Amino acid sequence: MSDQLKKYLSEDRSVRIESVDMHQTWQAAQAHHSYPPSVAALLGELVAASTLLAATLKFDGSLLLQLQGDGAIALMVVECRADMSIRATVKMRDRPLPIQRDIQSLLNPGGTAKFIVVLDPPKNTPGRQAYQGIVPLEGDSIAEALEQYMLRSEQLETRIWLAADAERCTGFLLQRLPLQGGNQQAEVLSADETWQRTQRLAETLTQKEMLEITQDTLLHRLFWEETLLAFDARPITWQCSCTRERVADMLKMLGRAEVQDILETQGKIEVACEFCGQPYLFDGVDSAMLFQPLAPGPGKSIH
Ligand SMILES: [Zn+2]
Repeated sequence: MSDQLKKYLSEDRSVRIESVDMHQTWQAAQAHHSYPPSVAALLGELVAASTLLAATLKFDGSLLLQLQGDGAIALMVVECRADMSIRATVKMRDRPLPIQRDIQSLLNPGGTAKFIVVLDPPKNTPGRQAYQGIVPLEGDSIAEALEQYMLRSEQLETRIWLAADAERCTGFLLQRLPLQGGNQQAEVLSADETWQRTQRLAETLTQKEMLEITQDTLLHRLFWEETLLAFDARPITWQCSCTRERVADMLKMLGRAEVQDILETQGKIEVACEFCGQPYLFDGVDSAMLFQPLAPGPGKSIH
C-alpha cells in the first residue's frame, strides 16, 4: 500500500484528526545513509511530524522543520512541500552517541539547541519571503517540542503521537480548531467535550501499537464510536531536487584549479547529495568537460 496521510474532522467540526503512515518514502529517506537506530528513529518521527503539520496549513509552499543541536546530532532537517513530497537529512558530529535516546540528550547537552520552523512560499510568489519561527528546543520528544511550538507560536492546542523504526514511520495528530465568533455556550461546551474525549481516546496509543497495526485499524480502534468527517487521503512521496547538472554547476563554482587538485589526489570526484545520498561521479574526462566551452551539436557543421 502506498504512503498516505488521512484527514478527518470530528462530527461537530471542532477537532482536526490526522494520521500518517510511511513505508516506501521512509525507505527512500534512509537509502544511502547508515544512521544509527536512535538517530533514524528521531528522523522518522520528524518526517512523520512534517507531513502532519503541513497538512494542517493552508499554505502553498514548503514547510521545513529543523532541529539544530549542540550534541551528537548537529542538524536534522525535513522539508515537506505542498504536494506532500518530502526530503530529509541528518548531520552528525564525530562523537559517541549518548545512551539516552531523547532529543535533549542527542541534540541539546549544551542547552543551546534550537527548533526552527520555516514556511517557504512557492518560487514564483511576488515579494517572496520566508517566514521563520525559532524557539529553544524543549521537551523530551519531537512530539512534545512540536506541541509546545504550536501552542506558543500558533496559539493552537495540538497533540501529536509519533513512532518510527527501520521499516515504518507513523504519526497521529489532534488539533483543536478555533471556534468562529458568535457561538452559543452550548457549542463551546460541546467543543470542549469533544477535545477532552478525543484526547482521552488517543492517549491510549503506544508507539508499539502505532508501528504494528495499519492506519485504518488504528483509527477504528480509537474512534469506532465516533462519527468522523473524512477528507481525501493525500499520497506522500520522496522527492529530492538534486541532479547531475546541479552538482556539475557546483563543481564549476569551485573552479578549475580546485577540481584539478581533487582529481590529482583522488583520481576522481565523488559527490553525494546530502539529502538522498545519491552519489555523483565525475572522472577526469567528465571534469575536463565541465570547463570546456559548449561544443557544436552533431550534424550541425559550421562553415
Ligand atoms: Zn538528492
